[in-house]
Parts: sequence; C-alpha cells; structure tokens
Amino acid sequence: MRVLLVEDDALLGDGVRAGLKQAGFAVDWTQDGQTAKLALETEEYAVMVLDLGLPKLSGTDLLKWLRGRKSKLPVLILTARDTVVDRVAGLNAGADDYLIKPFDLDELIARLHALLRRSVGQVTQTLQHGDIQLTSSTHQVSKNGQTVELSAREFTLLHELLLHVGRVQSREQLEQHLYGWGEEVESNSVEVHVHHLRRKLGAELIRTLRGVGYVIDKEASRS
Ligand code: CA
Repeated sequence: MRVLLVEDDALLGDGVRAGLKQAGFAVDWTQDGQTAKLALETEEYAVMVLDLGLPKLSGTDLLKWLRGRKSKLPVLILTARDTVVDRVAGLNAGADDYLIKPFDLDELIARLHALLRRSVGQVTQTLQHGDIQLTSSTHQVSKNGQTVELSAREFTLLHELLLHVGRVQSREQLEQHLYGWGEEVESNSVEVHVHHLRRKLGAELIRTLRGVGYVIDKEASRS
C-alpha cells in the first residue's frame, strides 16, 4: 500500500514515515503542499496522511483541489489540539478522518487500515482464499488455521494479490506498493518475495505470467 505523507514537521514526519514503513506501507513523504500536489498528479496512492498547517499550499487548499478533480483518495488529516476551526474546515473540504496531535502511531495505522477497507468496499478485515486467510488489521496470515510468519514486504505483496484475485499485477505495479521514495528497489525483489510466499504458502498459490506479472487465480486449482 502506497501512502502519501504530507507533514512539514521533520521530527514528526520522520517518525510517522518509519512507523508506517514498519507496518508494511510504502511511504512517500513531502514537507509542503505544493510538492504533495505534484506527487498526487504523477503517482498513484492508496491513502494520504495530510497535515493542515503546511508551507506553500495549505492542507485544506490541497484537499479542496483534490476533491475538485473528483479524486476519491481516502484522506486522514492531522491537526493541532486547539484548532477546531481548522479541523472542521478540513472535514468540510473532504477529509475522511482526522487525528489530533500528538497521536499514537498504532491508532494512525488502525485508522488507515479502516479507510483502506472502506475504499475497496471490503466489509470485513479478513481476506480468505482457499485455506489461506489474511487479516489486515493484525497483519496476520494463516494457512489451514496455522499462523504463517511473513516479512512486512511479503505481507504487502500477498495483500495486493489477494485484493485483486483473478487480475494480473505487473512487477512494476507490485514494486509501487513495496517501495517509497528514496528507497532503492532491489532487482528481482518481487521475484524473491514471491518465491518466499510460495515456499511458505504453497507453490501453486501465485501464478507467474512470464513478462506480464503475477496473479492469484480465482478458483484454487489445488485439491
Ligand atoms: Ca504543520
């Protein structure tokens, strides 16, 4: 899942980026509204975390611009405790949720997962495919009821493929979800993660279409 984080406070931004990365998100972090606008014009995001008080272009103005172009991108705004007026303006401008600073990182992550579930029309937190079960809120994967340990990137990759069962995802699409700005994309990284997922969850789960990408087929062909 690729997140656009817009926060001008260096310390807070760095902490949030690290926490989201730890939770398996690919994070692009910008420190002003203008750069965020450029990023939104050129990149695809699953969700945005937006501070309202920003240099160059305020969070509220950025949000108005985004909604003006009919974007349905889920947006969570960050506001200071004493700025009720700002918060209301942010919600009126089209924010989906808000958190008041200082906030708990776990709460931010839980709320982002909730926004993402709503945006893909997913009612439950759990994706089921054959004997494999993935729960996004707790980051847990099990096979036949047995917990399977996955790295953050393996989890993200599996999550993406399970969200799009029956639809081929190209390696580039998958890499977008695994890496944020400034993170070097390791060559063959997707192949390596798919290899690990097959080893942990079964060789037949993920099908490779050479030169095209990867897919989890709709009906499990396994007996
Ligand atoms: Ca600020």
